[in-house]
Amino acid sequence: MEYSTRVIEVLPRSKTAVSIRFAKPAGFTYLPGQYMFITLRKGEETLVKHLTISSSPTEPFLEVTKGLTGHPFANALSALVPGDEAVISGPFGEFIFEREYERVVFLSGGIGITPLRSMIRNATDRGLSTRILLLYSARSEADVLFGIEMDQMMEKNRNLKVIITLTAPDPGWPGRTGRIDRTLIEREVPDWKQQVFFTSGPPVMVDAIVAILEELGVQHDHIHQEQFPGY
Ligand SMILES: Cc1cc2nc3c(=O)[nH]c(=O)nc-3n(C[C@H](O)[C@H](O)[C@H](O)COP(=O)(O)OP(=O)(O)OC[C@H]3O[C@@H](n4cnc5c(N)ncnc54)[C@H](O)[C@@H]3O)c2cc1C
Repeated sequence: MEYSTRVIEVLPRSKTAVSIRFAKPAGFTYLPGQYMFITLRKGEETLVKHLTISSSPTEPFLEVTKGLTGHPFANALSALVPGDEAVISGPFGEFIFEREYERVVFLSGGIGITPLRSMIRNATDRGLSTRILLLYSARSEADVLFGIEMDQMMEKNRNLKVIITLTAPDPGWPGRTGRIDRTLIEREVPDWKQQVFFTSGPPVMVDAIVAILEELGVQHDHIHQEQFPGY
């Protein structure tokens, strides 16, 4: 289904990512983790991209969060202001977590957080009993997306644990460092054989994480993945 909508808010998330909130058209429903196509008109040009819906179905708007690549679509999206029009179509995708499992592990880096943010917000707003562990990797503290919100959700949702690991931390960072690797997964998820994993983001990162999970012997149907080509 195709819908016409308008921008209601623009939220810079970091130096390299921005969220755009659109009015949720009547009749548009989606599940946490799904994506939609966004069509923007810039003069004679029509620009289209698929982006995850980073908002949760519990929220009254539709939000997408885009990495600022400097390419035409990213530039046009980040130049939007409240009141601007866009056409959306969707929702699409099978990378969904509503409440299907009692325990889940989310593994992501950078912009790949978008579907997981939707799932975590949904679980928190609905008071689900699902135990969620998020291992999230970013370059520096300033590049962590939704960091303050994750802290707030951990306060509200005792079943949520978020572990951030930085690959280029500023001096004095007290937390974990480095990428999400086998050592980190083995340490933080000692019962990996019983867990269900969701991983999303740049293909190189997702492929590396899936390879580790396969090496560990995680069942194939316990690994859900979404790749964002273009990163
Ligand atoms: C299911 C799904 C969900 C996604 N969710 C998100 C999300 O939540 N947030 C997000 O930011 N992205 C998401 N993406 C990725 C998104 O669709 C874009 O691919 C990505 O954001 C890059 O778009 P861009 O316009 O910024 O860059 P692009 O202009 O598409 O450039 C991306 C790469 O392609 C190269 N490239 C571009 N044009 C050409 C060409 N003509 N020939 C050769 N190489 C070229 C560029 O050099 C660059 O390396 C998702 C993708 C999928 C499939």
